[in-house]
Amino acid sequence: MARIIYVNGTYRRYSDATIHAEDRGFLFGDAVYEVCPVIGGRIIDEVPHLDRLERSMGELAILAPMPRSSLSHVLRETVRRNRIVEGWLYLQVSRGVAPRDFLFPAARTDRTVVCFARNQPLAKGDAQAAKGIAVITTPDIRWDRVDIKSVQLLAPAMAKEKARAVGAKEAWMVDRDGHITEGASSNAWILTKAGEVITRPIDPGGILRGVTRTVLLDFIAREGLKSSERAFTVAEALDAREAFLTSATTFVMPVVTIDGNAIGSGSPGSLSMQLRGLVLAAARAQAHSQPG
Ligand code: PMP
Repeated sequence: MARIIYVNGTYRRYSDATIHAEDRGFLFGDAVYEVCPVIGGRIIDEVPHLDRLERSMGELAILAPMPRSSLSHVLRETVRRNRIVEGWLYLQVSRGVAPRDFLFPAARTDRTVVCFARNQPLAKGDAQAAKGIAVITTPDIRWDRVDIKSVQLLAPAMAKEKARAVGAKEAWMVDRDGHITEGASSNAWILTKAGEVITRPIDPGGILRGVTRTVLLDFIAREGLKSSERAFTVAEALDAREAFLTSATTFVMPVVTIDGNAIGSGSPGSLSMQLRGLVLAAARAQAHSQPG
């Protein structure tokens, strides 16, 4: 089946899905994006993802390209046309096309909207979770506004390449004070030996407000688990009982080594797996509750 990409009002075949060479997303990284999970052909957590997209656009003074209901229709139609059952959906909005100039073009310049989707069986993530993943640490060399989900992803791409070179799946980035900020494309978590779940707070910054992170914090509170939103060091992570990461495409993924050092027993932690089960069950329930 031909893969279909939405570009500015038209659903195109892959080979025909093109944007202009002077698109500001291409020239300046002047674009924002979202990635939502898809389960059972339904979009999961659409509302918080579109909320975050609006916030990202607002912070960069990019006007919404269309009403939210229309964007929502594009998302649904892209999933349908690509017959995605389990996978993810990518939506990008750039400031549009204008003769190259650092200064923003007129706000009404047509924004560029691109949407595509991929199949990614949940079973693949489950198999990976059963083994757990390796992460490395690397200096966080990103700009300060990582709270904005922009397509300026060169630093995370370099971090992931560094991870791949040593057989790791993700890079945890470290700020100047030796604290872990987050993964290149995920939020970072540990369970201490004292039984406390820790993740870095949104304020004073240094991380993206992950949708999966928010969902998981709610579960942790509901389950009555001891938790704290605070910065943690690489040394604390190495000494943790368990470590894991969260994102829309991996849900909750156990981390079994950091820089080659085993975390806890060196196999996926029981709480990490329990939290993964909770998040996946909630996502599946959300899929079932949506009309066909
Ligand atoms: N941090 C960064 C830097 C990311 O790119 C992502 C993936 N979008 C996340 C955290 C996790 O966010 P979410 O749970 O919304 O996918």
